[in-house]
Order: sequence, then C-alpha cells, then structure tokens
Amino acid sequence: MNKIFLCKETAKDETRTALVPADVKKLIGMGYEIAVQSGAGQIIGHLDDEYSAAGAKIVASLEEGYRLADIIVRVNKPDSIGGIRENTLHISSFDVFNQKEAIREYADAGIKMLSLEMMPRTTLAQKMDIQSSQASLAGYYAVILAASKLPKIFPMMMTPSGTISPARVFVIGVGVAGLQAIATAKRLGARVEAFDTRPVVEEQVKSLGAKFVKIDLGEMGETEQGYAKELTPEQIALQRKAQAKVCAHSDIVITTAKVFGRKAPVLLTREMTAQMKPGSIIIDMAVKTGGNVEGSDPEKDVVLDNGVRIIGGDSLERFIPKDASGMFSGNIFALLEHFWDGENKTFKLDADDEILSGCLITSDKKIIHKQFLNL
Ligand code: NAD
Repeated sequence: MNKIFLCKETAKDETRTALVPADVKKLIGMGYEIAVQSGAGQIIGHLDDEYSAAGAKIVASLEEGYRLADIIVRVNKPDSIGGIRENTLHISSFDVFNQKEAIREYADAGIKMLSLEMMPRTTLAQKMDIQSSQASLAGYYAVILAASKLPKIFPMMMTPSGTISPARVFVIGVGVAGLQAIATAKRLGARVEAFDTRPVVEEQVKSLGAKFVKIDLGEMGETEQGYAKELTPEQIALQRKAQAKVCAHSDIVITTAKVFGRKAPVLLTREMTAQMKPGSIIIDMAVKTGGNVEGSDPEKDVVLDNGVRIIGGDSLERFIPKDASGMFSGNIFALLEHFWDGENKTFKLDADDEILSGCLITSDKKIIHKQFLNL
C-alpha cells in the first residue's frame, strides 16, 4: 500500500487541499508514489506544475486517480464512492456521527475508511490531529472576523480627543479554538473573560491573561479523551443564568462549546441575546452541531432587533486556506510517515494499533470501530 491519490475537493465552500507540494515531495522521498488530480491545489495557489516538480503524476480525472491508488487522501467525504476500488484506504474528515448510512456503504464496498476527526487525543497522535490544527486557526479567525464587524476598536486608547475603553470579549468553551481566540483577543488589546465546564481550564485561561468566570455547576469534568461531559438540563439552566450578565456587558461573545459526538448545548437563549448591547457580535462556532446560540444560522448572519449580530462561524479555518491547508497537510504527512514501513515500502495498516483503532471505521467489509458496531 504505497500509491496515494490526492483528490480535488468538491464541497462548495471548501477552500483547502489535503496535501501541499512540500509534503508531497517528502512523501515521495520516503518511497510513496503520488498521483494528484489536476487542479487539486489551485484554490490556494498550488498549480499542477508545483506538484509535478515535487515528483507527483498529474491525472485528469477522479476515475483515473482511483484506478491508480491504494490510498486516497482528501479533506472531506466524497460525494460518492463510485469508482473507489475494494481495499482502498480512504483518508479524510468524514463527519462520522452524521454519516451512519455512508459508514455502512463503505463497509459493504470493502473500503477502509479512516476518519480524521476520530484521531485519538494522545501525545503520539497530536501531530496527526486535524481537529486541533484546524480549530486553533478557526479560533484565531473568529476574533479577526468579530473585530472586522465590531463598530469599535479592541485596545484601550488614550488620546487628546478622548479615551476609548477596551473591547470586552467573552469566550465560552476553552478547548483548542477557545484558547486561540483568547490569545488573539488579548494580543489585540481586549479585556477577555472565559468559561469552560472542564475545571482544568481555569489555569490555562489565567495564564493567557484573561479572567475565568466562576460558575458553580456541581459535578462536571472531562472524558478520558479530554472532551467535556454533557451537562444536565439543570446545569445548563444554571450556566445560562450565570452567563447572562457577562454576555450583557460584552462587545463580543465567541462560543465554541461542543460535546464530542453529541448536539452542542444551547448556552445563549433569545432572552439573553436580547439583553446584549446594540452592535455586539456573537460568533457561534458550534453552529453546525446544533448551535450554542438560539437563532444562529450556518448560512447567513442574523441581525436581531436590538442590533446584535449573530454569525454562524462553522469551519472558519476555510477563510485562511493557505495555513489551514499547510497544517492539514502536515497532519496527513505525519500519519503517512508514522505508518510507513520503509523495509517493505508500504503503509503498515494494523487495525489493532492504538492510533488506527481510534480512527479506522471500516475494514475487511465490516464496521470495525467500537463506537459504530451497532449501526
Ligand atoms: P471541543 O471542540 O469538543 O469543545 C470545545 C470546548 O467546549 C471544550 O473545552 C469543552 O470543555 C467546552 N464545553 C463543552 N460544553 C460546555 C459548556 N456547557 N460550557 C462551556 N464550555 C463547554 O474540544 P477541543 O477543543 O477539541 O478540546 C478538548 C480538550 O482536548 C482540550 O483540553 C484540549 O487541550 C484537549 N486536546 C488534547 C489533544 C491531545 O492530547 N492530542 C489534542 C487536542 C485537544
């Protein structure tokens, strides 16, 4: 298994590519053969010539690439599996929790589906973790986007014409995206507050110079993988009540609160957003998984009667595709390098390996991932 095919993305909002020429060159140097679908990197300025110069073969169509490949690499799940040969390893993010029928389809077709968002949260797998690399860029961009829409500046400014108070930013959910949002807002000069249900986060928030909002919700905690546990309805009600005041004095609220594999909790109700200052900006980064903000829309901004703008901030890393592709590609490179068996010149696919057992969903015409066995 050493023949890789890099596909061109087809999703309408996709701006990234899964492998950049620099990583293609390194992989070919290791012993992989790589075919690239013509135009795969064009959207971020990597033309076919660059991939050719890196040693890749350019192919005109998906069908041709599929015929050559035993490993397919792309950012997103494909529109159809037509043409993908049995026993091919397909590597992409897959949105697995919303693709139950597709999982069965991959298993039946004998395609080995590796879903990148299921990458285990371990030190060893960190360099292959697209969730982290993309979320940190998205967290950065959420602040830039909010700043560009806010009718005021971020830093405090004392001038002969008057004193401007700093913008107040509230970040709800301090995982990878939230931490980067806090750091970016601080760098721009804002006063930042933050909250997360995982108690370990308090120190991280303080170390970035932000204030941790203390809300006593009783028993909280995190899963073995470091993800938040789901709150009870009573805890969510308590959280909303305690957060309402902070939202009311904030200029920007960025919500990133997700619960892995489940619907995101609604943390800002209509009642709460109605109490916010006119011109305030809310960015709901959980909009695609149910939304943290009542009324947020993944397709368009929603401006409330009081002038508060709610932005559905899904996959914001797509607005900075050069770095997002570079990091995504770095993750894929790390995966392909980690499992490279140089002696036998092959990707070593061991379904019992601690990393692969976390993210390989189908193999040998079966669903093999323990979380999806009962589909
Ligand atoms: P995520 O995207 O699932 O969630 C974002 C944040 O929202 C999390 O911090 C979560 O605790 C928080 N949240 C959930 N419900 C909430 C609520 N009701 N109110 C407020 N906040 C709420 O999480 P993530 O960003 O992917 O990261 C989760 C953790 O995993 C972090 O500690 C991160 O550092 C860790 N991590 C570890 C590795 C690794 O070891 N390889 C890699 C990536 C992330």
